[in-house]
Amino acid sequence: MAHQITLIPGDGIGPEVAAATVRAVEATGVAIEWEVANAGARALAETGVLLPDSVLQSLERTHVGLKGPATTPIAGGHPSVNVALRKRLDLYVNFRPVKMLPGLKSRFQDLPIDMIIFRENTEDLYSGLEHEVVPGVVESLKIITRGASTRIARATFEYARREGRKKVTAVHKANIMKMSDGLFLTCCREAAAQFPEIEYNELIVDNCCMQLVMRPERFDLLVLPNLYGDIISDLTAGLVGGLGIVPAANLGEKCAVFEAVHGTAPDIVGKGLANPTALMQSAVLMLAHLGERDASQRLQKAIQAVYAEGKCLTGDVGGAGSTFQFTEAVIHNL
Ligand code: NAD
Repeated sequence: MAHQITLIPGDGIGPEVAAATVRAVEATGVAIEWEVANAGARALAETGVLLPDSVLQSLERTHVGLKGPATTPIAGGHPSVNVALRKRLDLYVNFRPVKMLPGLKSRFQDLPIDMIIFRENTEDLYSGLEHEVVPGVVESLKIITRGASTRIARATFEYARREGRKKVTAVHKANIMKMSDGLFLTCCREAAAQFPEIEYNELIVDNCCMQLVMRPERFDLLVLPNLYGDIISDLTAGLVGGLGIVPAANLGEKCAVFEAVHGTAPDIVGKGLANPTALMQSAVLMLAHLGERDASQRLQKAIQAVYAEGKCLTGDVGGAGSTFQFTEAVIHNL
C-alpha cells in the first residue's frame, strides 16, 4: 500500500526544494501517492484564500504533510499561513534537530553539536492578537496557558526518556515576564519532576544565546515558548551550516507536517542555488514517522555521504553545486 502524503510546495524556493526532496524520497523506493495542495502566496493568487479548506481536508485525510516555506508579508498584509496551519491542526510540537553533518565547514565544525529544539507551536506572541489601544500605542498579547506549556514540556521529557537523551533545558524570561514565562517554567518543573532520571536546568533566554555560541556542545534538548523557539532555531542553525541544513517536524495528536526551518529565501529564488538538505532531512523524519525506518536511514546516510565527499554542495555551505547537482549526488548515494 502506498503512503498518501499531502505535498505543499509553498512559495519562493519552496517548489525547488520540494521537487528535489520528492525525487530523493521516491529514489528510496518507498511507494508514495502525493496529494498536491497549495497554500500561501500561490494559493492566494489562484483562489483568493491563503489556506484553502482543501489543504486542511487533505491533511486530515492523509495525516502527514511535506511542506515548503510560505511567504508572510512583513508589517502588514495577510496573517501567517504557517501559524494558521499549526493552530488549525493543533500541531503543538515543533521538533527541530540541530546536528553537524560530516565534512561540513562551519566555525563550529570541530564540536560535536547534537541538540533538539522543542518549540511550543500554538500560542505565545504568535496568537496574532494585536490592537491599537490609542493612536501611537499598540498592544500584542502574549498568551501562555498551562495546557499548552504542559504538553510541550511532557513531549520533550517523553522524547528524552524514549530516545535515551540526558538533559532538558527550559528557556525563559521569567525574571521579567513573571506571570507568563513563570507559568511556562512551572509547567516545565512539574514535568521534570515526573522524569527524575533526566537532568533538568533552566536558562534565561539572553544567557542561553551566549551559552549556545560559547558552548553549543553542552546542550541536549531545549524546550521553549513559541517566540524564543523561533529565534533560537535560526541561531542554532547558524552553528551547523545555516538555514539550508536544519529540518523540522510539526507534530500533533492526529497530524504531522514536515518542513524546513528556513523561509522562502527570496534572494535566491529561481537560480538553482537553494540547498534542499533541510527539506530532505525533514523527509528523513517523515519516513521514520511513517514507519519506513530503513528508507529513512538510507536517505540520511546518502545526505551525509554527499557532505563527507564535499563535491556537490550548494553555495550556502561553501560549495559550487546547484540544487539539481546536489540532488543527483544524494540519489546516486542511495
Ligand atoms: P529565509 O529563511 O527565507 O532566508 C534567510 C537567509 O537564509 C537568506 O539569505 C536565504 O537565502 C538563506 N536561505 C534560507 N534557506 C536556504 C536554503 N534552503 N538554501 C540556501 N540558502 C537559504 O528568511 P527570511 O528572509 O527572513 O524570510 C523570507 C520569507 O519566508 C518571509 O516571508 C517569512 O515570513 C517566510 N518564512 C516562512 C517560513 C515557513 O514557511 N515555515 C519560515 C521562516 C520564514
